[in-house]
This record gives sequence, structure tokens and C-alpha cells, in this order.
Amino acid sequence: MELCSKKSRSDDPSRKSFPPLPPPNPWIRKIHFSSYRELLPIQDLLPRHLSLVRLDANENGLGPSPLALEAIREAAAEAHRYPEIAGEALRESLASEFHVTPKQIVLGNGSTELLELLFHAFLRNRREEIVVPRYSFPLYEMLAQRFGCRVRVAADRNFAVDLESLRRTISPRTRLVFLANPNNPTGSRVENGELLAFVKSLPPGVLLAIDEAYADFLEDPPPLGAAIRDGAPIVALRTFSKLHSLASLRIGYALAPQEIARAIQKVSLPTNTNGLAQRAAAAALKDRHHQRQSKEAVWIGRLRLQRCFRELGLDCIPSSANFVMVRIPHAENVWKGLVQQGVLVRSLKSWKLSGWLRVTVGRAEELQRFEEALQTALCATRAQETLLV
Ligand SMILES: *Cc1c(COP(=O)(O)O)cnc(C)c1O
Repeated sequence: MELCSKKSRSDDPSRKSFPPLPPPNPWIRKIHFSSYRELLPIQDLLPRHLSLVRLDANENGLGPSPLALEAIREAAAEAHRYPEIAGEALRESLASEFHVTPKQIVLGNGSTELLELLFHAFLRNRREEIVVPRYSFPLYEMLAQRFGCRVRVAADRNFAVDLESLRRTISPRTRLVFLANPNNPTGSRVENGELLAFVKSLPPGVLLAIDEAYADFLEDPPPLGAAIRDGAPIVALRTFSKLHSLASLRIGYALAPQEIARAIQKVSLPTNTNGLAQRAAAAALKDRHHQRQSKEAVWIGRLRLQRCFRELGLDCIPSSANFVMVRIPHAENVWKGLVQQGVLVRSLKSWKLSGWLRVTVGRAEELQRFEEALQTALCATRAQETLLV
């Protein structure tokens, strides 16, 4: 609550004897809690008698692998000990998975922490820039705001990432380029050949961060391990939050050429990831059956969602991830109508995509609830519109 308080601290009589509070860095003042504000009105709309269907955060509704749960139970008994400083055992497992060396891997408290570490390691001053595609993950720009550096936005091509425009937007001041592949929130992907050609075309001094949070859902993920072994100026960011269904444990990893990985490791705090997460992740990596189940559930559920939208005459972007972005007339009203029925999806208004919603591919029974709730919300919205005309 203190964060939101309008009342200045200096009005507080109990503080009189203390020196005034120091102001934060000037660029911090421009940061708004927009994503938090979005959540606030939901509480009043939610029905009390219905269970929630959460299709708003691209989580994996299947739940963690039984092997991961067992590892968490075992690790819990060791919770009084500090974990391995840089998660050596998990890095070994990941290294053999991707045919790289452990020195080419860094663990993060979620892959989002690794995104922050990239700014620490590669941005020298506030005149430097990052480049992002239009319609992508807002965190890249939010981090740029926190570091006070500039953002250049590349044009899209019919909502998809346009690599040519991304290349043209790079300036001599650009240090980092961000590319989510598959992209969030559009779900579109770039072709593997085009991606590798793009990497080869990068000017010297630029690092390409390829956010692969959803690459596990691709049938043919780009062969970044090979590019990294060959010293490509890239860092691939991956996570256990999506395919492996371990979002709450906060664990992700970066794959990069050794010099890059070393720099990221240096700016991270020792033991930035916890022991439960490290052990659960290593176990999840071994559970091929659970991984296959997750993928197949997403592939089947995605077809179902896309068909549902087609039958309702709604435009959606063909998705390569575990969510679908759909254009809906009066999207904000429909979103509200869904919330009132206990179905949460992501409104993309604050992501500069007003008129669009993003729906996570949930379990079959969740998609059933979503489809029914969507029909109800669409009817209610249409009825409202006719009354207003
Ligand atoms: C979900 C997601 C992540 C993963 O974040 P974690 O911190 O690993 O949970 C990263 N990038 C994108 C684009 C995502 O959608």
C-alpha cells in the first residue's frame, strides 16, 4: 500500500526529526505499475461461487512432473542448507541436453532475471539503446526504463516480427536486440533459416537475446546450441515455467558463448536460484513422458481454440506457442464478461493491442468453460450494443 500512497512522507509528524528521504534516480519516476493496476478491478468482478479458470499467464495447467514433485520433497528436507552457488548439477544436465559445456550456461531466478542481468552486463551508459519488435513482451521495455536507456521499436509485418525491419532499426548505439521466438503475445515465430541469416547479419558489438520461453512447443526449434558452440553473438533464454509447469519455482537458464555466459554469471548474485528449484528442474528435464504430454495437450488444445474462434467469425493469429491471440469486437467488454464468469484471459489493451485478447491453451475442461463463457459474453455484449443503437 505504501507504494500507492499519495500523501507525502514529509507530512508525517513522526518523521520530523529525520533527514528528508533521498529521491530515487529521476528515470524511476516515469515507471508506472500499469500491469498491477490492471489486476485491481478484477477482485470486484469475480464471482464468489465459481472456481477460477486461469488462462491469463500462459501457465501449463497440467501441473509439475511427478519426478519434479518428488525432487521438491527431497530437497525440502535440505532447506536449511544453501544451494550450490551456481547450480552446478543442473548446469551439467542442461549442458548434456544441448551439447554445450556447463560454462555456456547460466541459471536465473526465472528467465526474466536473466533478461535483467543482460542489462547489467551489456549496457554501459544511458545513451545506449536496445531494439525490440513492435508487439512483443513488454518486460524488455520495462527493463530499459529501469536502466534509463533508450528503446527503438522495429515495425511489425502483419503483427509478426519483421526481421528486416529489426535489422534496419539497429543503430551504432544499439547494444542489445530482443526477439521472443515464438513471440508473446502474438504467438508467431520466425523461420529457422531466416533467424540464422539474421544472426549472421548483425553488426559487431550487438548481442541478440532470443527469448525462447515457448520454443519447447515447436516441433522444429532453431538449432541455437550449434550456433552457440560456433560463437554466434546470441544468448538464448529458456525457462522451466511453461513446458515443465514449474512457474512458481522461478527457474530459467541462458545459453550463450562462454565469454558472454561468464559476463552474465559475474553480474548475478551467488545462489540466485534456490535448491528446490534446481533439483525439481533437473528432475523435470529427465521426464520425457511429462514433456510429451504437455506438448500434445498444447497442440490439441490450440487447434481446438483456433477452430472455436474461426466458427465464431473471430480473427486470430496462427500460434506456435501455448496461447492464441484473438481479435474480438468490444474486447474490453467481452474480457469483463469473462471475468464475471470466473474466466481470466489477458486483455492486451495495455500492450498497445487494444481490441485483442490473449488466451492460454488450458486443459480440456478449462477450454470448455472458456468457450461457454465466451459465447455468453459475446451475446451479452451484442445485446448491449443493440440497446445502445
Ligand atoms: C513466460 C515468459 C518468460 C518466462 O519467464 P520466467 O521468469 O522464466 O517465468 C520469458 N519470456 C517470455 C516472453 C514469456 O512469455
